[in-house]
Formats: sequence, C-alpha cells, structure tokens
Amino acid sequence: MLSIILPSYNEGKNISKASGVISELLASNNIPYELIFVDDGSKDDTWNEIEKASKGNPNVVGIHFSRNFGKESALFSGLAESTGDACIVMDCDLQHPPETLIEMYRLWQEGYEVVEGVKRSRGKESILHKASAGLFYKLISKAVKIDMSRASDFKLLDRKAVDSLLAMPERNAFFRALSAWIGYKTTTVEFDVREREEGESKWSTWSLIKYAITNIVAFSAAPMQVVTIAGVLVFLFAIILGIQTLIKFFMGHAVAGFTTVILLILIIGSIIMISLGIIGYYISKIYEEVKGRPKYIISKKINKK
Ligand code: UDP
Ligand code: MG
Repeated sequence: MLSIILPSYNEGKNISKASGVISELLASNNIPYELIFVDDGSKDDTWNEIEKASKGNPNVVGIHFSRNFGKESALFSGLAESTGDACIVMDCDLQHPPETLIEMYRLWQEGYEVVEGVKRSRGKESILHKASAGLFYKLISKAVKIDMSRASDFKLLDRKAVDSLLAMPERNAFFRALSAWIGYKTTTVEFDVREREEGESKWSTWSLIKYAITNIVAFSAAPMQVVTIAGVLVFLFAIILGIQTLIKFFMGHAVAGFTTVILLILIIGSIIMISLGIIGYYISKIYEEVKGRPKYIISKKINKK
C-alpha cells in the first residue's frame, strides 16, 4: 500500500479537491493507497473538510493537531501514523503535481528506496528570495554533502527509510535534509512547481528567515567557525601592526604609552576571539552528541535474520 501524507494548515479550500484528484488518479492506476491529512492546528474549516472527505472515501485518514506545530512536525506525525510500504509526502495545495506520484511509485517498484522530487523551476519568486534561498541551500548542501539547491519536500520514502527517519531522536528535524542524510538507494524525479490555486502561502519573509536559521544551526557548525577565522585574521593583522608600532617606538617616533596600548588591544583581542572559536568548536561537538543521531544506518543484510 502507498501512504500519501499531506500536511494541511488553513487549507479548507484545497482538501476536497486534493483528495478527489489524488484518489481518482491512484484508483485509475490500481494503486492501493491511504491519504493521511494532517491538520496542523488550522483556524479555518480544514478539519471539517477532512471529515467530509473521509466520509466519502474510507481511504482518507485525518490527524488533528491541538495547535499549529509547523509543517515539519505535521510531516513526521503523518509518517508515524502511516502503514504503507512506501510513503509519499506532498503539499495539499496541489503545487506538487499529482501525476508525479505515479512516476515516483513506478521508480519505487523498480527498487529505489528514496525518490526525491526535484524542482525543475522554482515558480514565481522575487530576486531577493531566490538569492537568500540560494545561500541557504549552499550552506545546507555543504553540511549534508549532497546538492540540495533544487530539493523540495515532495518525496517518496520506502518503509525502511521512514523507519530510519522516525528513529531519529532529534527534536529539531529538518525533513528535507534528513531524508538526504539517511542515504539509501536514491533517485530523483523532476517536476514544475505549480501556482497555488486557492488560499495563500503560509510562509512570511520572517518565518522563512527563522526557518533558515534553525535549520542551518541544526545541520551545520559553520557559523561558529567564523569566530575562529576572524580571530586568526585579527591576530595576523596584530602581528603586522605590532611590528610597525615597535619599529616606530625604537626609532623614537611614537607618542609615549601609545605602543603598549596598541599591542595590548591587538593581542588580547585576537586571543579572546580565537578562544571563543575553540570553545564554540567544543559546543558544536557537544551539540552533535546531544542530537544523538545514529552513527550509521544499515539498508540491507545478507544471510542474517
Ligand atoms: N503547512 C503546514 N503547517 C504550517 C505551514 C504550512 O502543515 O505551519 C503546509 C501547508 O498546508 C501546505 C504545505 O505545508 O500543504 C506547504 O505550505 P505552503 O503552500 O504555504 O508553502 P509554499 O508552497 O508557499 O512554499
Ligand atoms: Mg504551496
């Protein structure tokens, strides 16, 4: 069976359409399925719509959050509740084209364990948005060591991959990057992001900035190392300037007491910065340990029960 997980937040206008289109498509391709709508604490009639859809179709499952916990949490709860041999995660505003589901399913049947939906085009976005998204994915790609620049939350995961994700103890889980981090036999499917038909995007500029910062911090210690690098640069600068002031001092051009002050400021400043960087490095290691991610994930075994 195929489980489709659709996080929904204030999507009242989209539920009936999404469940109709997707169930029709899967039924016509003879794919057994369940549609899991996760109502992420919506303030509109989303839950009523999910109830309505489930009355007309026994394959529709609804999960209701007590309040808005965010898309990431909605995704993970959908995965936890799913029973299918494969799960597909998609947006319920139909910006992820439903036809791609079939393509993903076929690839899964061919033996792929993770099928990543990759954006061929990013749809309409401002230049500033594009540039900041580009920088964000550069950092994340470096941390995961996989190109994430066109990654999306639209993907198929085999049961094994779902179980690996659910076994992650970390609370701040960034689905898009974690699903790449777990590995497994992976392939990609390209799709064009569609225009949203009903309702509006839930992401304000501010929420995107917050999202970017939490996820960079969750995946990469690079910002911490900036302090160390800055410290080393200041230290080099201190040596050059120190030599210059010393020369002036010995040639007798310096104002009294000035040399000592400059040298002290430069040396102490750079030592403090480098020390902060070292402390930061230890903190980043502690953070990694606290997250408690598994050291490895086994995808197959031979001659072993
Ligand atoms: N979503 C959610 N919880 C939230 C915000 C969004 O479950 O707090 C869902 C939303 O209902 C949609 C998907 O996440 O199915 C993507 O959201 P949206 O379409 O607003 O993002 P965009 O496509 O503009 O990036
Ligand atoms: Mg959308």
